[in-house]
Amino acid sequence: MSIPAADYRHYHQVRIGALPTWVRTGRGSTVDKSCRACAELAETPAHVVQMCLRTHGGRVLRHDAVVELLAARLRNKGWIVEKEHLYQLDSEALKPDLVAVRPEGACVIIDAQVVSAAQGLRGAFRAKVRKYERADLLEAVGARHLVNPEAVEVVACTISWRGVWCCSSVEEQRDSRASKVESYPEDKAMALLRSCSGRGAQ
Ligand SMILES: [Zn+2]
Repeated sequence: MSIPAADYRHYHQVRIGALPTWVRTGRGSTVDKSCRACAELAETPAHVVQMCLRTHGGRVLRHDAVVELLAARLRNKGWIVEKEHLYQLDSEALKPDLVAVRPEGACVIIDAQVVSAAQGLRGAFRAKVRKYERADLLEAVGARHLVNPEAVEVVACTISWRGVWCCSSVEEQRDSRASKVESYPEDKAMALLRSCSGRGAQ
């Protein structure tokens, strides 16, 4: 993927917290640091990127780009990919970003999220998995794609807004016998995302 230099430099500003927000450029002064778009909160990078109403459209584009990247890589790896199908369940309707199926019967529900690191990547990962890992959805997905519901897995593609993948802690967790079972879904996520990225999740 080629990235224009004009955009690339902003990636680093995001990663190191150097976006020229009012809070950064006004450090040490008493100037008003409220967001220039919504005027409601201090204009920090986290507010601008993750919360401000003015950037809502960008967040939607970002999420969709992550989903499209995953879908394209999975198709490239031989998966049959369904995007944003609405599963009408008894109590509610759920629309996972992707359902990926392999001819031999593997089936994975994938939902992507770009979250604040402050809320905890692992917690966000597990919350998302809990949302979709429910018997009625697994049965509906299994019935639609002709796979055993017990074979349907749920993966949350969880990335911080600075670009850190949730799976960074998997290796250290793998060494902990006490948390081995608990970390299993993240192992699966990491394996899947590694296969998609071709270079491994960080
Ligand atoms: Zn704002």
